Amino acid sequence: MNDLLPPHDFIDALGEAYELLLEKALQKAHQSGALVHHMIEESRGDITALHRFSDDEVIKLEEYLKRDLFDAAQYLEKTEKDLKYWLDFDVALIKREFWNQFTEAAGHTRIALNQLREMAKNTGYLSGELIGIGTIVCSQCGEKLHFHKPTHIPPCLKCGGTLFHRQRF
Ligand SMILES: [Zn+2]
Repeated sequence: MNDLLPPHDFIDALGEAYELLLEKALQKAHQSGALVHHMIEESRGDITALHRFSDDEVIKLEEYLKRDLFDAAQYLEKTEKDLKYWLDFDVALIKREFWNQFTEAAGHTRIALNQLREMAKNTGYLSGELIGIGTIVCSQCGEKLHFHKPTHIPPCLKCGGTLFHRQRF
């Protein structure tokens, strides 16, 4: 029994809300010319699916989305490689539309990296938090966990560790 994780329907709902938030923020960024990162909070009120969550949960969700985009943007900046290599698994496992939106938003975020760097000092990922897509590594034993849709992070399957980080490229 693991008390770190909420029930499944809650995880699914939050995962869906993550995707909707990304989609809406991207739309708003297109309309206004502002950064996706800045449009994430602005989009909160447009997403009915968010009404079932508390304010704290919504704020966390926004932070999780920004964290993933920031990491992907840093990867683009450092490596100049295609974002599919950042995933460390087959891109076909991700819904195409979601992937397209994520890569566009990451490219957009890259432009503002310097501005956002201050906001993203804490880059550790904890069990029970939400992650969008990609691969994280257990800080205790090095086991890799892969995510192809937004979901909660379980404890490490190998050692039970609860702290993870993105791969360093
Ligand atoms: Zn581990």
